[in-house]
Amino acid sequence: MNASMNLSSAPKIRNDWTRSEIAELFALPFSDLMFQAQSTHRAFFNPNEVQVSTLCSIKTGACPEDCAYCPQSARYDTGLEREKLMAVEKVIEEAKAAKASGATRFCMGAAWRSPKGKDMPYVTSMVQGVKSLGLETCMTLGMLDQEQAQTLADAGLDYYNHNLDTSPEFYGEIITTRTYQDRLTTLDNVRSAGMKVCCGGIVGMGEAESDRAGLLLQLANMSEHPESVPINMLVKVEGTPLANQVDLDPFDFIRTVAVARILMPQSHVRLSAGREQMNDQMQALAFLAGANSIFYGEKLLTTANPETNKDMQLFQRLGINAEGYEVHQDEAEQVAAITTQLQAAQMDSVFYNAAK
Ligand code: SF4
Repeated sequence: MNASMNLSSAPKIRNDWTRSEIAELFALPFSDLMFQAQSTHRAFFNPNEVQVSTLCSIKTGACPEDCAYCPQSARYDTGLEREKLMAVEKVIEEAKAAKASGATRFCMGAAWRSPKGKDMPYVTSMVQGVKSLGLETCMTLGMLDQEQAQTLADAGLDYYNHNLDTSPEFYGEIITTRTYQDRLTTLDNVRSAGMKVCCGGIVGMGEAESDRAGLLLQLANMSEHPESVPINMLVKVEGTPLANQVDLDPFDFIRTVAVARILMPQSHVRLSAGREQMNDQMQALAFLAGANSIFYGEKLLTTANPETNKDMQLFQRLGINAEGYEVHQDEAEQVAAITTQLQAAQMDSVFYNAAK
């Protein structure tokens, strides 16, 4: 929470938003919406800090589900190379490397409808191993029943990611192999087991503004807001049904971030998929709208990595520090620290699209 926060003037945390209230926020003139979002943001967070999250795909592709945006679905020919569940030792090695580079949270994702009984001992070993390194743990494995959620929580899993994707009304256009209620049930199971929730959606899939409002209505009226709210911009992947989707107006993406910030003032709103396609100005606007978390990709570690420098430079140009890290007075030291933090994170755009 921002040290300068004035509790008496802080916006109330609400779980009773109405559709018309949210529609009114979306309809505000852009500057008015940004002012309200930024004011809300400053009441709860340091506006110059952004959390950097680290992700590792522990099982890639061959998913039986039909999410229309996802290159990991076995139903679409996207040329994606399938990978079996990673060995526990390999995951621990990756986590150690991430920790050595300064990461504090390690997120693991698998392209499954839900974990099978035979998978559970492996994923719980991963959680325990990563946890024993002193890292926070996060997973996204698809749908969970009560028992699976409790098993993961007992193993020490801190966060579970499971997205609602879009509004209940538009949902059937995007996924037919699991229902909206299935998703809500998994989220209930995660909460009941005592884990923190990471839950958001994807915009730019051809939905109407009322659908973006409908998604945020669902998230904001949960009895407890998700601790993390990823707002993804569709990444159009050749071979998926949404490959030729018309681009969303970038300002509509920023509006969605701003409204999410106003509705869920204490949550980390995460710029997730699609960030690679955004220019610096758009990312800066998203931070101004209240986004305060980003993902970083493993591709960045294996290439010449101009993107790392670009993002590090953007943080520097905007005066942003990575949350949870010491702020160095000396500018050169600060740049070096941010570079290390960013290099710690691992993710690729395929995985972005696979977040459940
Ligand atoms: S988003 Fe997840 S559940 Fe849907 S197809 Fe991709 S990997 Fe499978």
